[in-house]
Amino acid sequence: MLRDSFGRVATDLRVSLTDRCNLRCSYCMPPEGLDWLPKPELLTAEEIVRLVAIGVERLGLTEVRYTGGEPLLRRELVDIVARTTALAPRPQVSLTTNGIGLARLAGPLAAAGLDRVNVSLDTLDRETFAKLAHRDRLADVLEGLAAAEAAGLRPVKINAVLMRGVNDHEAVPLLRYCLDKGYELRFIEQMPLDAQHGWRRENMITADEILATLQASFGLTDADPAERGSAPAELFLVDGGPARVGVIGSVTRPFCGACDRVRLTADGQIRNCLFATDESDLRAAMRSGASDDELAERWLAAVRTKKAGHGIDDPAFLQPSRPMSAIGG
Ligand code: SAM
Ligand code: SF4
Repeated sequence: MLRDSFGRVATDLRVSLTDRCNLRCSYCMPPEGLDWLPKPELLTAEEIVRLVAIGVERLGLTEVRYTGGEPLLRRELVDIVARTTALAPRPQVSLTTNGIGLARLAGPLAAAGLDRVNVSLDTLDRETFAKLAHRDRLADVLEGLAAAEAAGLRPVKINAVLMRGVNDHEAVPLLRYCLDKGYELRFIEQMPLDAQHGWRRENMITADEILATLQASFGLTDADPAERGSAPAELFLVDGGPARVGVIGSVTRPFCGACDRVRLTADGQIRNCLFATDESDLRAAMRSGASDDELAERWLAAVRTKKAGHGIDDPAFLQPSRPMSAIGG
């Protein structure tokens, strides 16, 4: 098992399939985009499936989430998902996406065995979307959401990041929209993971603020805390349930003590934390002929050194050099 020195066991793998994206959400990357990884540095579909199989078959991973960058931009995505759901024991397989292209791909992904999808949606207003994401693509996202629901990828989950003065007035409309459509909404506190290093704590909309805003319009009661397990979202029943809303207080209510995640970047590096400052290079090992046993051994060693927490509140905190889009959020 992927056990660290604090006794936490990683069972949930996040795999970035590409660092590229067709949006430019300002909490993630600058309007001009980033220097994308050169193709030879990206893991091939073959290499991704080999590493995921090692994780699932030998190291006890039970969940695999494909993300990015924008995972729908990866041409082999449906094939990668099909090969992941064919592993034994079969892991839960999910996707985090901005939804652009999901209208076309939701059906094939569901047929490949995809279990769940999280779609990022920060606003319902076309102009705000274009301002926040620097692309006028709200209609594509909403179409993608409807296709995911129709393809049976239920419950469709929505991730929203609120930014002060940009979309923080939309917490209530977003929740109303999700209640109406049957989507499960989670608000995520903005984290210092943007490529531009523009995050400021005082600008962050905190979990407390989000909850206060929602409570002015809805009755929120703690959903059974036993259900939370290692999930980062604190879940609340809305107006007595069964609909729920989640708040992920990554910064102000850190859940590092219960973290069960490990990450594989698009260029084959194992990261034991979003905020890790070092990585373990499985791509180089694999390309120089390492066996599955040797790769598993390296992966175990990479997880063993996981730190107790992300340390954002530590005066010595250093933002990782890779942005969220390159790590795999
Ligand atoms: N492109 C896909 C998407 O947007 O869903 C997948 C990758 S994206 C990096 C994964 C998630 O990370 C999204 O829900 C996004 O809102 C979130 N995210 C990106 N930058 C963030 C930040 N600085 N703080 C908090 N969440 C962030
Ligand atoms: Fe792209 Fe997702 Fe980053 Fe937005 S959050 S720029 S959709 S990778």
